[in-house]
Amino acid sequence: MRTIRPCDALCAILWLIFAAGCTSSIPNLPNRSIVSSYQSDRFIIYLMKKGDTTASLAERFLGDPELLWRIEEANKSFEPDTLIVIPLKARNKGGIFENGVQQIPILCYHRFDIRCDSPLCIPAEVFEGQVKYLKDNGYRTITPEQMLGFLEYRQPLPKKSVMITVDDGYSCFYNIALPILKKYRFTATLFVYVNFVGVSSKALDWSKLRELKAGGISIGSHSIMHSDLSKPGDQENEEAYLKRLHHEIFQSKKMIDTKLEQDTFIFAYPFGRANDAAMLMVHQAGYKLAMTVRRGGNPFYSNPYNLQRDQILEKDMGIFATRLKTFHSLSLR
Ligand SMILES: [Zn+2]
Repeated sequence: MRTIRPCDALCAILWLIFAAGCTSSIPNLPNRSIVSSYQSDRFIIYLMKKGDTTASLAERFLGDPELLWRIEEANKSFEPDTLIVIPLKARNKGGIFENGVQQIPILCYHRFDIRCDSPLCIPAEVFEGQVKYLKDNGYRTITPEQMLGFLEYRQPLPKKSVMITVDDGYSCFYNIALPILKKYRFTATLFVYVNFVGVSSKALDWSKLRELKAGGISIGSHSIMHSDLSKPGDQENEEAYLKRLHHEIFQSKKMIDTKLEQDTFIFAYPFGRANDAAMLMVHQAGYKLAMTVRRGGNPFYSNPYNLQRDQILEKDMGIFATRLKTFHSLSLR
């Protein structure tokens, strides 16, 4: 008869706790000192040591410090000498639960200033309050690559994921918003329209965009001229309209690809407006994600060429908080 070793028994208990979906740290198990770590193909039980951080553990065991959220969401405490769970497999890629699905809010900003005279401008103090609110309430900002992985059902996202986007390419992003984002260790995505790049001191130029990209800010296309792509202009026939669409969508990608040495895969429709022809052409040009300004969140089954975004025009924190819904209730039983 096979003898059950203490480790087998302990690991079985640990496995049952983990498999049952318990997300707290392992409680005071009587024999924990006999195990410093245990690994299966699905998880590791690890004894926290002084100096360990969730980022260092994510780098060591998951190969990427940015995956620290997987460890943080699976445990409540990270005190030295505490056993924690390190999940090795990506779980629940689409964020699907029996009472609903995860959704990703995408926030849309334009300009920032110390004092503002337009609803499209957010005062620095208000922006910092909003970013602090996100941090204090456990939100994590995601990149377009992460969003794409979620929409393609390849990767799960942190439960409270949010995407921050900033349209047009004003230099106030660099001067005002970026230091605030850095302070809270958040990222953002910029959408620039090519004809605005470097036109005046109010606009970011290509060298600043390169610097931003090197610092982890994603850059997408917002067309060439910022014209409405959702309908023909006055006196514009069908042929001229399609030619304009092609130029605005294909050419902007080509120019941004060349200037920033990247394969630009995200697009924001000027004024947030699109029709089927524009969406199709954005797809044909090689973009993978495209954004409107229709209000709402984005579950994993969203059309990637018709993503919803909330324009942040209000300075009221209560209203801001209502834009951050990360769960869409549905009965999936
Ligand atoms: Zn715009």
